[in-house]
Amino acid sequence: MITEDDYKKQVYYVDGELLDDFVKSDSTAVSGVGYEWENEGVVHLHFTPREHGFGTQHIVSFAKENGTHSDSATILVDVANDGTAKVGDVDVTCIPSRENLYTRNKGLIELDILSNKRVLIIGLGSGGSPIAVELAKAGVGQFVLVDFDRVELHNLSRHICSIEDLGRLKTDAVCDAIKGKNPYAEVIKLPIDMNKNLDIMEEEFRKADIILCCTDNNKSRFNTSDLLFKYKKVGIFGRAITRAEGGDVFIYRPGGPCYFCLLGNDWFDPTQEEVTNEQSARRSGQIAAYASQDDVEAIVQVGLGADIEPISNMMVKLALMELSRGANSGISSLEQEFTMNYYIWANRRERHYSNWGCFTNSDGMPTIMRWYGMNITANDDCTLCGNREKLAVGENFMESLRAMGSDNLEGLALPEEN
Ligand SMILES: [Zn+2]
Repeated sequence: MITEDDYKKQVYYVDGELLDDFVKSDSTAVSGVGYEWENEGVVHLHFTPREHGFGTQHIVSFAKENGTHSDSATILVDVANDGTAKVGDVDVTCIPSRENLYTRNKGLIELDILSNKRVLIIGLGSGGSPIAVELAKAGVGQFVLVDFDRVELHNLSRHICSIEDLGRLKTDAVCDAIKGKNPYAEVIKLPIDMNKNLDIMEEEFRKADIILCCTDNNKSRFNTSDLLFKYKKVGIFGRAITRAEGGDVFIYRPGGPCYFCLLGNDWFDPTQEEVTNEQSARRSGQIAAYASQDDVEAIVQVGLGADIEPISNMMVKLALMELSRGANSGISSLEQEFTMNYYIWANRRERHYSNWGCFTNSDGMPTIMRWYGMNITANDDCTLCGNREKLAVGENFMESLRAMGSDNLEGLALPEEN
């Protein structure tokens, strides 16, 4: 129970848009819920209960000057006609409306444009989850999230989700994280395996303004590439390679080379992929069925979240640039910078990058911690865009392996996923 004396020690927040709705409504008093961060002197006031409440909950009564407070309420909020509110003598801070929430971004990006854009994010792991939140922070208004995994312990060190999210569907947990940054964002959650639901994905590709492929396997990259080609959409692919010693980002622009022009005939080589998760590696065949636990530990290698972030950050910038292309905003100059379609990043001078130059003394060599861009050209023999007539969406994965004359299909077979 908050006493009259306690009122003065608290800081109150309320949703300004809902407060305005109340002012304009015919009702003179309504009840609500207050959530108190105990011992921190902070109370959040809501007109309706939150799906996931926090701290101590109080019954709230909002009343206009001519309204009457409910007797049972522990927090009494007096609302004036000008949309301001007070608890006792303390002013309530209004959380800005949709139009004003991201005014600090104004000039840098086109908020009106971004709030109407629909972004499809496939894969909500260490790459996809921070991308979703960054785009929400920038003011992107519509999200479609695709991932059938749940938040597990091994995710936490590289994921935006926290211990409180353990066991939840990543689509739900990341949706909450988006709403935490932009409560006005519309989020469609699809906790499905895209590779098994291509009919649903076709519809989503058709509606999306941009597609971000953040998965950890080539089968979904292949299907993404296929649908980008079919629906003439811009798509951005990002991946980390083993132990996140580095990674790359590819952007597909309709009419240009596809992701598999880049990967060439080695695209199904499992050693090219970072193995971050035993279960998914077993599914994809990156870990053989007979592998011992010791073998598994040697194969499953993850990098630090800080090693993944440069890659997801690059994807965010490319996405914002593409979404606001031609809008003459503060990031328009990037349209002159990011004309290429392939970008490479190295975190450490290891393995693939062991012969790279030292950061401080490169001697003309590429060094770690800098982006290098290049233009991948279309490959006439490309499995996907160079040979379309042989392929059909959904049926093409194993066919394309055979078409390339692979004689080692057993090891690469896609076992039935659970
Ligand atoms: Zn291609």
